[in-house]
Amino acid sequence: SVERWKGKVAVVTGASSGIGAAIAEQLVQSGFKVVGLARRKERMDELAKQLESKSGKLYAFQADVTKEEDILKAFEWIKENVEPVHVLINNAGIAGAGNLRNGKTDTWKRIIDTNVLGLCIVTREAIKHMRANNVDGHIVHINSLMGHRIVQVSGMNIYPASKHAVTALTETLRQELNSIGSKIKISSVSPGYVKTEIFESSCKASGLPGIPATRLELLEKLPSLQAKDVADAVLYILATPPHVQIHELIMQPVGEP
Ligand code: NDP
Repeated sequence: SVERWKGKVAVVTGASSGIGAAIAEQLVQSGFKVVGLARRKERMDELAKQLESKSGKLYAFQADVTKEEDILKAFEWIKENVEPVHVLINNAGIAGAGNLRNGKTDTWKRIIDTNVLGLCIVTREAIKHMRANNVDGHIVHINSLMGHRIVQVSGMNIYPASKHAVTALTETLRQELNSIGSKIKISSVSPGYVKTEIFESSCKASGLPGIPATRLELLEKLPSLQAKDVADAVLYILATPPHVQIHELIMQPVGEP
């Protein structure tokens, strides 16, 4: 169980919506102090209010993972206001029409900046923080089925490329930490389609063009996971004892191709 983490601090990026909000909720219910990082702070404030009666607590901190200064500020705030971070969930991510044939360079940059470099910046700061505090913590990346399979779906080439980068970063980071004798655990969860706002409001918040309407209609008809299903998987991974490390958990809705 996650009992051993009770009262510990977990950072969840992208806690304002979808999978990140579901993870934050379950961590708070399990007694974690959760620091949510996202741009839309008001949405995290709303969630924090809903979770007031639970055993843990959600602290909403406005931060854009693509802005290094925001992340440095967040870790400064954590250092001064809460105990050391034991868990990091790298969940913030965007998807949108980033095709190669006629996509915009700026769109590609946003996807790579958020899904790859944003994850790297937060991870680096978390590892420095954990090591400075002598914490053998656990870092979980929310990757994607598209980080493992190469399937070009309508208008999306850059997103799977960004998630393949996450696959490589997960594995190289584990090996890197292992080589220096660190006991920090690295895992990733790679879901198939999850019904969230990823192609809608979150796209817009990043100034990305959404995916084509025809694709959205198709998605409506496909089997999907719920954000809670992914949060359950994350909690399962965190519940493993200190000597057990799950590398990768790939999950899909039954019936998804
Ligand atoms: P949502 O759009 O519902 O949530 C995305 C979250 O990421 C939001 O909270 C958003 O917060 C945050 N975010 C985006 N850009 C930034 C940024 N620059 N800085 C900080 N936070 C940011 O989508 P999902 O819940 O579906 O996506 C979460 C993760 O799951 C992503 O990494 C995605 O790739 C992955 N995933 C999703 C799948 C799906 O089918 N939905 C399938 C497989 C993986 P805000 O806008 O407030 O900053």
